[in-house]
Amino acid sequence: MPVKIIDGKKIAKEIKVELRNEVLNLEKKGVIPGLAVILVGENPSSKIYVKNKEKACQETGIISKVYTFGRNVVQKDILSLIFRLNKDKKINGILVQLPLPKGFDTEKIISAIDPKKDVDCFHPENIGRLFLGFPRFFPCTPSGIVEILSKSNLKIAGKDMTIVGRSNIVGKPLSIMATNANATVTLVHSKTKKLKEKCLRADILVSATGKIGLIKANMVKLGAIVIDVGINYNKNGKLTGDVDFERVKRKAIAITPVPGGVGPMTIAMLLKNTIKAAKDNIQKK
Ligand code: NAD
Repeated sequence: MPVKIIDGKKIAKEIKVELRNEVLNLEKKGVIPGLAVILVGENPSSKIYVKNKEKACQETGIISKVYTFGRNVVQKDILSLIFRLNKDKKINGILVQLPLPKGFDTEKIISAIDPKKDVDCFHPENIGRLFLGFPRFFPCTPSGIVEILSKSNLKIAGKDMTIVGRSNIVGKPLSIMATNANATVTLVHSKTKKLKEKCLRADILVSATGKIGLIKANMVKLGAIVIDVGINYNKNGKLTGDVDFERVKRKAIAITPVPGGVGPMTIAMLLKNTIKAAKDNIQKK
């Protein structure tokens, strides 16, 4: 069977159309969802991500406000802004673009966000809720992966899923979400022994490491689904994932490309969370 190249861009676009309609319905009730994005420092990738988020908000009808600080800002000023945004009725979602420059206490800053406005789902309360099975939000990248599989009619339940990478924003929360969706999960990382063996057992193999070419064809079971989360630049400056795409696609039944796979889904899920926060806020009233 020919491999299915999963078009994350197209799926994200369809989701954004649905979300645009949800925003129009909210507007009829006098509510316009608002997202505040805090950017600290000069990280070029972070600047691009923030621009993309702003653009996606505009397309969907969400008001976005970007607060930019130089890397010399004092942490107290970022915390003061967060406390102000927590109280701002026009703002439903607050996100701090990570990574923060060295010297900032990321945990303290994220924990200062009102959990009801934590649309990235990084706050300890929201991670705890996800873990315990009564989530408020789903973290954007794992949620984008679950959604891309679902929209491609690829079932998670009953499957063996190996996730390479155990970060707090992708690997670990995805392992919880996939477990809750009845997959059997193996979470592997840089200290894992016999990585190839653990990848080879996967019906669904997800890589989120930031290591170009880590996932080679001999690590992929024939007929597996391969999800590439990595965002890397090769020596020619070309955007590329963790997976040796050209060779792996000959073994996989379905595969996400980079770019155009998980990345656009992550942003769509951020918009979804912001709209959910706005709706939850109405219900609270
Ligand atoms: P991270 O950078 O915090 O950690 C990397 C993880 O990979 C670690 O758990 C580490 O143990 C594991 N790892 C590193 N080398 C390994 C090896 N040789 N074998 C096995 N495991 C190894 O992770 P992150 O923040 O989740 O980012 C991972 C990648 O995903 C990056 O390229 C990042 O840019 C990308 N990313 C993409 C999106 C998206 O929307 N597409 C979102 C978030 C992150």
